[in-house]
Amino acid sequence: MAELVFFTGTMDCGKSTLALQMDHNHASRGRAGLIFSKLDRAGESVLSSRLGLSREAIEVTDNLDFWELVVEQATNGRRIDYLICDEAQFYTPHQVEQLARLVDEMGLDIFAFGITADFRAELFPGSRRLIELADRTEVLQVEALCWCGRTATHNARVVDGVMVVEGDQIVVGDVGEADAEPAAQVEYEVLCRRHYMRRMTSHAARAASLSPEVLPFDLDVCPVPQR
Ligand SMILES: [Zn+2]
Repeated sequence: MAELVFFTGTMDCGKSTLALQMDHNHASRGRAGLIFSKLDRAGESVLSSRLGLSREAIEVTDNLDFWELVVEQATNGRRIDYLICDEAQFYTPHQVEQLARLVDEMGLDIFAFGITADFRAELFPGSRRLIELADRTEVLQVEALCWCGRTATHNARVVDGVMVVEGDQIVVGDVGEADAEPAAQVEYEVLCRRHYMRRMTSHAARAASLSPEVLPFDLDVCPVPQR
């Protein structure tokens, strides 16, 4: 029975690696699939994993219609048994509905991979729709760890070394005008909820532990900043 499965977890938990493995497993059984990604760390039209593997992928833009694309390919005689959909948190809710329709009406297996919540700890619209519509949502068991060693559950955005909890959900790359201020450096770090709520990144924790004024400093009892 065809199904729509949403594999999720924090950043760094191996989702893209599993996506590539899933494609390999199905392809090696003679099944035909298409791979999609959006805003992959390695650039457009590629699905890459932190372990160094990568595959060509179809870049998902906001106006890509999964239903039309698959129907067109099928009409041209191409067999499609499954779709691998990486970075699915960035898909529109409407696109997620197209995926569900492909499962129900075309009998495709669809394996979607993505994080649930953004750096503000709020659901991405695409992930929300996947949780609402998927036959199954699987939380990946390869756990990313916070700097303190606890299981990381939250994705923090760090801008020029400082954790932020406000801003655009997706940061689009700066086009770099010659006379513009240098673009802020945006990074992400996975944290446990405790340290997410306290905005205590690994960098902040190191700085705090080195500062004589705050010793002894228990990072677990430090106050939660007011929003
Ligand atoms: Zn922690």
